[in-house]
Amino acid sequence: MFKESNNFKKFESKVWLSSPTMHGPEIEYVKEAYETNWMSTVGKNINEVERLACEYIGCKHAVALSAGTASLHLSMKLAGIEAYGMPKVGHGALEGKKVFCSDMTFDATVNPIVYEGGEPVFIDTEYDTWNMDPVALEKAFKIYPDTKVVVIAHLYGTPGKIDELNAIIKKHGAILVEDAAESMGATYKGVQTGTFGKYNTISFNGNKIITGSSGGCFLTNDEEAANKVRKWSTQARENAAWYQHEELGYNYRMSNVVAGVVRGQFPYLDEHIAQKKAIYERYKEGLKDLPVSMNPMDLEISEPNYWLSCLIINEDAMCKQVRGEQDVCYVKEAGKTCPTEILEAIASINAEGRPIWKPMHMQPIYRLNPFIVRDGNGRARSNAYIAGGVADVGMDIFARGLCLPSDNKMTAEQQDRIIEVIRACFE
Ligand SMILES: *Cc1c(COP(=O)(O)O)cnc(C)c1O
Repeated sequence: MFKESNNFKKFESKVWLSSPTMHGPEIEYVKEAYETNWMSTVGKNINEVERLACEYIGCKHAVALSAGTASLHLSMKLAGIEAYGMPKVGHGALEGKKVFCSDMTFDATVNPIVYEGGEPVFIDTEYDTWNMDPVALEKAFKIYPDTKVVVIAHLYGTPGKIDELNAIIKKHGAILVEDAAESMGATYKGVQTGTFGKYNTISFNGNKIITGSSGGCFLTNDEEAANKVRKWSTQARENAAWYQHEELGYNYRMSNVVAGVVRGQFPYLDEHIAQKKAIYERYKEGLKDLPVSMNPMDLEISEPNYWLSCLIINEDAMCKQVRGEQDVCYVKEAGKTCPTEILEAIASINAEGRPIWKPMHMQPIYRLNPFIVRDGNGRARSNAYIAGGVADVGMDIFARGLCLPSDNKMTAEQQDRIIEVIRACFE
């Protein structure tokens, strides 16, 4: 275990990984909702959130929903119906169908495939941006040529290789669903993420770059799709005097109270991105002579939103570390460390880091799903820890990487202390 012998002073109040940052206008819009009694899923705040999302991201239609996950669910439903037709009972639009998806992501990218009865096929990660590997995707289409839907996330706010991925998806006549929950405000070749898919998602979850405490938006240029999502998300009521239903509905609409918070946050999105960028650069500078690198990005092509700063330890600076399903053990060696030791060190001064999102193909719930890597026979299992290395890119980044405290309220002095604590792990 990490010894608290370095005597670094603890922070009095915790430095979080990424916590909400409020500015003032949020409460005014919430108060306005309260005072005018628009305390439901209708109101000016919701309309404004949709207008602001379209304006900022540059899309034609936005539908404000209770969560990014709700948007991903309805995106899956739309994509399934488009590819395979309307399901008989109104749900299970992807019943029995394979869907290609990012492997190193939060499970909210993937679960909605299963809500609609589909089977996630995980595509391995590349080292350049830590997102879906186009080579592995191309291979997946060779193995499962009938697949018609692909879901792509931009991990930690860094856009993936969109042009390469899109070319493959187009070539195979598949539909791209984009999960820009973590990358809101990031651009690829000057264009916002959340515009590349036919159906796209942003999130206002409490730890995202701007927040409503919860909430999300469905984004599209397809008016018919936007109308469908608006209707489905409000219990699929038909235009009648009574409750009339022809389709399966959901209670997925954003609250006008939550929308007040989102509305108040929008003007601060650019400020948050600038703060996150400064945090990333301070880490990069402070850790530059250690055997580590920061989460990678190609600044010639894309401008990330720097949502989370991460580092990855060079292979030859890794001490022995073994992770079970719930526990972890490591053996300290001089000059070497591992993510667990660094996370314990960070926690010992009252700051919050986190392991890299554990790849989906390593998750017990998805252990039987296909997983496609660029080399070999296209299948690698999470227990295939090969002597002298790991079986796939996602597993490797998970083994050697970690997310650093990236809260935009963290001061430069606090961050310097975190950097010192990390440096001590390499002694
Ligand atoms: C946060 C997140 C979501 C889900 O957003 P919610 O608004 O919390 O439902 C989806 N995908 C990724 C990659 C996320 O990080």
